[in-house]
Amino acid sequence: MAIEQVGIVGAGQMGNGIAHVFALAGYEVLMNDISEDALRAALASIDANLDRQVGKDLISSADKVDALKRISATQTLADLGKTDLIIESATERETIKTAIFEDLVPHLKPETILTSNTSSISITRLASRTDRPEMFMGFHFMNPVPIMQLVELIRGIATDEATFNSCHDVVERLGKTSATAEDFPAFIVNRILMPMINEAIYTLYEGVGSVKSIDTSMKLGANHPMGPLELADFIGLDTCLAIMNVLHEGLADTKYRPCPLLTKYVEAGWLGRKTKRGFYDYRGEVPVPTR
Ligand code: NAD
Repeated sequence: MAIEQVGIVGAGQMGNGIAHVFALAGYEVLMNDISEDALRAALASIDANLDRQVGKDLISSADKVDALKRISATQTLADLGKTDLIIESATERETIKTAIFEDLVPHLKPETILTSNTSSISITRLASRTDRPEMFMGFHFMNPVPIMQLVELIRGIATDEATFNSCHDVVERLGKTSATAEDFPAFIVNRILMPMINEAIYTLYEGVGSVKSIDTSMKLGANHPMGPLELADFIGLDTCLAIMNVLHEGLADTKYRPCPLLTKYVEAGWLGRKTKRGFYDYRGEVPVPTR
C-alpha cells in the first residue's frame, strides 16, 4: 500500500522533528498532541529549523513553504484514523502509549500501519494492545531528527514482512539509513548509549569528576561530539530515567540500575534543555554546570 499521509502522536522534540522530515520528503503530515501549547511550539520549531536549513542552502525557500503547507495539527486523536502510517512519539511511559493505541484503534483504516518511536519499551507488548500486531513495529528516530541519519527499525514478534518492507521504503524516501534491531529492551542504540550516560552520572555522583571534567574527558578523550551529561540534558533526563528503568526491569540485571542522582534531577523537574535546567543551567547566555 502506498503511504502518503502520516499521523504523528506527540508533538514534543521528537514529534516535531519527525513531522519536519516527513513533510520535506513530500508526505502529508497530521500532528496530534494533548497539549495545544505543544502543538503551537512544534509548528514554531519546525518553522525555525526549516529556516536554518534554508540558511545553510540545504533546502530552498520554496521547499520550506511546501513542507509547511503539508503539516497540519489536531488535538483530536481520532482525526489520525484516516492516515496510512501512524508514528506514536508521546512521552516515554507505557501506560500513556497503550492508552493512545487503544483510543486510536476504533478509528483506523484496516490498512493503516501503526508504529512507535519508543526508545525502549517492548514493541511486542505495545502491539498486543492493538487489533493489528502484524502491522505494528518500532520506528525509532534519533535526536535531532532532521540531522541524524539513523532510523532503527524494530520488528515485534508478530510483525509481518509487508509492514517491515513498507517502513523500510519510507526510511529510504526520507533519505535516511535504517538498522534493524530485535525487540529486546532499548534495542541497539540505547542499549549501548544509555548505560554509558548512566555511568557518567555515577561518576559525577561518586565525586570522581565534575560535570565539566566528565564532559571534557569524553569529548577530548574519546572523541565524542557531545559530553555524556550534555547529551543526557539534550535527550531529556525523564527519558533517560525511563529507558534505564526499562533496561533494569526488562533484563533483570543490576548493572542497569539508574543512578540515584538521575532520579533526583527528575524528581526536581530538572529534565535538561526542555525545562532549561539539568546537569547544566540553560537560563543564561551560556550553559552553566549545576554541580
Ligand atoms: P517530549 O517530552 O519532548 O514530548 C512528548 C510529547 O507527548 C509532549 O508534547 C506531550 O504533551 C505529548 N503527550 C503526552 N501524552 C500524550 C497523549 N496521550 N496524546 C498525545 N500526546 C501526548 O518527549 P520526546 O523527547 O519528544 O520523546 C517522545 C518519544 O520519543 C518517547 O517515546 C521517547 O522515548 C522517544 N525518543 C526520544 C529521543 C530523545 O532524544 N529525546 C530519541 C528517540 C526517541
